[in-house]
Amino acid sequence: MIVKMSKHATQEHYDKLVAALKKKDFEIRDVSSETVRIFGIIGDTASLDINDVQAYEGVEQVIRVQTPFKQASRTFKEEDTVITLGNGVEIGGEESVMMAGPCSVESETQLSTIADSLAKQGIRVLRGGAYKPRTSPYTFQGMGLEGLKLLRKVADKHGMAVVTEIPSSDLIKTFEAYVDIIQVGARNMQNFQLLKALGKTHKPILLKRGLSSTIEEWLMSAEYIISSGNPNVILAERGIRTFETYTRNTLDVSAVLAVKELSHLPVIIDPSHAAGRWSMIEKLSAASLAVGADGLIVEVHHDPENALSDGAQSLKLDRFASAMDSLRELAEALRRPLK
Ligand code: PEP
Ligand code: MN
Repeated sequence: MIVKMSKHATQEHYDKLVAALKKKDFEIRDVSSETVRIFGIIGDTASLDINDVQAYEGVEQVIRVQTPFKQASRTFKEEDTVITLGNGVEIGGEESVMMAGPCSVESETQLSTIADSLAKQGIRVLRGGAYKPRTSPYTFQGMGLEGLKLLRKVADKHGMAVVTEIPSSDLIKTFEAYVDIIQVGARNMQNFQLLKALGKTHKPILLKRGLSSTIEEWLMSAEYIISSGNPNVILAERGIRTFETYTRNTLDVSAVLAVKELSHLPVIIDPSHAAGRWSMIEKLSAASLAVGADGLIVEVHHDPENALSDGAQSLKLDRFASAMDSLRELAEALRRPLK
């Protein structure tokens, strides 16, 4: 961290701040010139809040040079993290992974119909919401525990892993019993109590990026999980809120590149919630693979017109199948097979 003192700062201001920092075991490296007083704070500055330093009288500017996240950072761990699921699927490895399924689990018939078709495409990770975070309390809220049981049952029939969203920490034990990847929804990305609690499980966590969260905030949320004891975090970009209204959100494709520079964690893309329109899913998936995403999570439904949630962005079974064919071709050209 670098601190620039203002022109009007006195020696007293400087001494007071330096003494406080030294008390916290930081080293001070003064690089002042005749005209400007600047110094570097050396040490584990992740524990230092930039605003706390800024609060001192005489401080003009504080710049962070190290990332505030530690264990999630590329500096901490250079090699990519690869997460292996119970069924052998690797996330962050040599292949990219397609996760697919309905937005919500609606019934056994619905889930089986979709999963049977996905299995024919070789899909090995089944998605489906059992506890739905809906904007309106009057819309379908999910099947709850019954939905988790159906996901497990149907996935097991095809040797698939299950990824589904957890609404709150009191359900962690239940999720451990039925789920392979626990999803933290965009709206819960900064539910720090939930993140800390998920640090105590060993199940991989799929951490969606918050609707209006910066990449740094997203990685800080990953840091909460890792620093609480669970290193198995997969990041998922799902579109962010911008001024654009044509799409549901704006897919930040560059987030993959940013995460790859800043972190060793795997990162996947959810084009469904980003676009909100089924017609864009295949091309956005192609773009995601092209920038090096470790996988995709896509909503698929056998009857989108009658889906209980997110029908407009769900691919019909045949459209998903043909999208998979062309995405796999692209993946081969990119020398990273799509599984
Ligand atoms: C979902 O995956 O169904 C979902 C609600 O996603 P998000 O949290 O990204 O909105
Ligand atoms: Mn959805």
